[in-house]
Amino acid sequence: MKADIRDIIESLKCYIELERLSGVDEYCRTSTDAGKTHNEPEAIDALKNEVIHCTRCDLHKTKRHYVFGAGSPAARLMFVGEAPGEDEDAQGLPFVGRAGQLLTKIIEAMGLTRQDVFIANILKCRPPNNRAPLPTEILACQEYVQRQITCIRPKVICTLGKFASQTLLKSEVPISALRGTFREYGGIKVMPTFHPAYLLRNPPDKKLVWEDMKKIMKALSRD
Ligand code: URA
Repeated sequence: MKADIRDIIESLKCYIELERLSGVDEYCRTSTDAGKTHNEPEAIDALKNEVIHCTRCDLHKTKRHYVFGAGSPAARLMFVGEAPGEDEDAQGLPFVGRAGQLLTKIIEAMGLTRQDVFIANILKCRPPNNRAPLPTEILACQEYVQRQITCIRPKVICTLGKFASQTLLKSEVPISALRGTFREYGGIKVMPTFHPAYLLRNPPDKKLVWEDMKKIMKALSRD
């Protein structure tokens, strides 16, 4: 019983911290809020509607589609990548190109499907010619992924590559040093790992990513 109350208090603390990170600093409870759980599809749909009208940086002028993210709003595992590439921009869906196919294989090797998890990116619009995201673009867009995390409240976040890992963890440590150890974001476990596009160029490092996925599976199996 005591442990239950401690869990509830811990969850509330995480929730408030995530809200704070998303810019919320006051609460107004209405009767229609009563009894709602946090990871309800309406909240993520409302956020999607906001994202698909975003003009916070110039990338909206050159993109074909906004790539909000896809998967289950109740996912226990969330993947966060860098930014849409050409295929994602064309289809409006995350990780559907070559790197995405590898990510799908990794998810399936974990015994999951893309529908079980949620896949998002730090940037919601493609940088032209797949150039690296600019710091100003990351600053403009990162609130969206923070709010996605608040809505979904996954048990574990897996950040894919340098940009996602360094942005969420507010770190400048290289991905090769960050990966493989659980970190923390607003009370949620974060496992940084190599980006699937990097694995396409460096296949021997797939075994390191698989080590990281095994740690994620173990953490998920505990809850
Ligand atoms: N690389 C990413 O980081 N995200 C995608 O959606 C596709 C490729």
